[in-house]
Amino acid sequence: APDDPPAVVIDAHGLPYQNPRLPVKKRVGDLLSRMTLDEKIGQMTQAERAALATQDDIAAYELGSLLSGGGSNPAPNTPEAWADMIDGFQLRAQQTRLQIPLIYGVDAVHGHNNVVGATVFPHNTGLGAARDPELVEEAAHVTAAEVRATGVPWNFSPCLCVSRDERWGRAYEAFSEDPALVTRLATAVEGYQGDADGSDLGDADRVLATAKHYVGDGGTEYGSSTTGTYTIDQGVTRTTEKELAAVHIAPFTEAVDKGVGTVMPSFSSVDFIGDGEGPVKMHAHADLITGVLKKKLGFDGFVISDWQAIDQIPGDYASDVRTSVNAGLDMIMVPYDYKTFTSTLREQVESGAVPMSRIDDAVARILTKKFQLGLFEKPYADRTHLDDVGSAQHRKTAREAAADSQVLLKNDGGLLPLKGDEKLYVAGSNADDLGNQAGGWTISWQGGSGDITEGTTILDGIRQVAPDASVTFSEDASAPTDGHQAGVVVVGETPYAEGVGDVGNGHDLELSEADRKAIDTVCGAMDCAVLVVSGRPQIVTDQLGDIDALVASWLPGSEGAGVADTLFGERPFTGRLPVSWPRSAEQVPVNVGDEEYAPLYPYGWGLRTDSARDRLDDVRDDLLDRRRDGASRAAAVHLGLALKRSNFGADGSVRNADAVLKSLSRAAALLEKSRTDTYLQADEVVSVARDIAQAALLKAGDRAPARAVARTADADHALASGEYATAVRRLAEAHRLAR
Ligand code: BGC
Repeated sequence: APDDPPAVVIDAHGLPYQNPRLPVKKRVGDLLSRMTLDEKIGQMTQAERAALATQDDIAAYELGSLLSGGGSNPAPNTPEAWADMIDGFQLRAQQTRLQIPLIYGVDAVHGHNNVVGATVFPHNTGLGAARDPELVEEAAHVTAAEVRATGVPWNFSPCLCVSRDERWGRAYEAFSEDPALVTRLATAVEGYQGDADGSDLGDADRVLATAKHYVGDGGTEYGSSTTGTYTIDQGVTRTTEKELAAVHIAPFTEAVDKGVGTVMPSFSSVDFIGDGEGPVKMHAHADLITGVLKKKLGFDGFVISDWQAIDQIPGDYASDVRTSVNAGLDMIMVPYDYKTFTSTLREQVESGAVPMSRIDDAVARILTKKFQLGLFEKPYADRTHLDDVGSAQHRKTAREAAADSQVLLKNDGGLLPLKGDEKLYVAGSNADDLGNQAGGWTISWQGGSGDITEGTTILDGIRQVAPDASVTFSEDASAPTDGHQAGVVVVGETPYAEGVGDVGNGHDLELSEADRKAIDTVCGAMDCAVLVVSGRPQIVTDQLGDIDALVASWLPGSEGAGVADTLFGERPFTGRLPVSWPRSAEQVPVNVGDEEYAPLYPYGWGLRTDSARDRLDDVRDDLLDRRRDGASRAAAVHLGLALKRSNFGADGSVRNADAVLKSLSRAAALLEKSRTDTYLQADEVVSVARDIAQAALLKAGDRAPARAVARTADADHALASGEYATAVRRLAEAHRLAR
């Protein structure tokens, strides 16, 4: 890598495309008109950086793009080394005839997770639990800033998968099983890219985003194939056109509206029931890629293939290349044999099998993004922001995200929040393991246990947040338990990425024997809170009776202190289940909207530790304070009535629940009608109704009918769709059924 890469002299050739004052469209047209077929094919080629035979191949093959596949990191793995590495590659691209910069891509799926010392956010499933579109946007913005600081302008994120089966190895990459919630959290696109028109892409804190994996990746069937292997990852989604649109395409529609720059097709196949065609690989699916994505939804960015995915299309390699490019793929993540790919595509174009118009369209789409990113003017890393990688400010956002993603599933006797002066017994495999709490896609593709990067473990966090507690830590709970007032057992999974989900705790979603033993020991001896650090629900049904407080912690990332913040009441528990929590592995798949719906905890479940009265008070003040329309002021009046009609107990209990629910429902209906933006306020109103319904369900215990449980889950689905009045109505029904 060069110490001092040469500055690019703008207008070096004095050619129109080099002129930043011309509109992007003109620049693209001018450049395209000067390009040879080889230069165009090069733009459509993405190689893994570690697959380069020599860096000279960047110029020799006119490569348009490189990537770091998971774990393909420079040594030493520092932000500076990343910037040096990418500058070195760009320097080679500058040695080509037309000096077209490379576009470098990484999977920064929860922070700039390839780089040691970068801020690591909770994985998407945790952000789904936080249910906060602004938080997701902010997390993506911070990530974008760290990624761009190291010279990388492109991120293969967000995953907008709707995961319908926990046994999938990528379940944690999904925000939710509910398409409405995933759609709502597509704000990640704005966090990465800024404005939908692409005008912010040149900024030092923005990157190009990738909505992936289009489409149906989370809906594949589970089962053993004839070869005895499970087929859920890269498998087949059997569905109707209508269902595919409603469940899996919906989040992509939103992403396109938000101007997402690239889309990555899924490794999986779609099999439309009854069309007689059988499964079609998404990378070959002209109808869904060109027909739906590009034409119907109006996607004007470029389509990047997944890793070596075209090779899976039936037929020989020439047919793979032809079929995928003709189906609408614009850039191929080859990623190894770029020589064979470029020569094969050339043959296909020369024989007329791939029309030149298709090539020009693909290259124009790619160049448009490169111009918008400002790469022609600034191909090299802007080193002034390198110190922002893993900065205290960024970690603060990640810490808040970790706190807000915690879901309190059970809290008998109000054990949580802890007071902070207890004699605490901390145990379990994930209490003091940064790598485990970060999960897959951290430093390496699969992630790893132990101190793989910088941050605080949950145990570190407990010590930091509660300095007055006296803490005994014993991972396997072998230290004597007597004399302790409360226990915190942190259990869960070890990291994994992709695949069929048979790693971590496997398809049966069972906690390890050591973790179960730690729970038995600690919960048998004292009041105990169990935290489950995992990419997906784990089966806890048998031990639930011994557990006083149960928390779904997901994969919180580098800031374990955020988890501790909720444990000690520095921040309230506000998270809610983004997925249904099954009773047993046999019950999987279980999803909101299923006809038979009786999970252990329904979608949307979550106890709050802040007061319902305070929340309603705040919302009412807010609606009265600001200049709002009549509808929202009328809503405030109904909230006032709810406050007056009822006694909100400190434990979340409410007297006159029916009257309160009625007022909340009126308020919700008005907020829905309001012309000013009131979704945050409406969310809070629904959350109070949810507290009331949950309290009734808790009281009913096992006697609560499954229908009541299902209603609460439906309520959250309605909420995610912005149907606040319906949400409150469903919760009122649940309340009535549970009583
Ligand atoms: C994954 C993608 C990822 C790509 C590049 C593939 O195996 O499916 O999500 O973006 O690798 O690392």
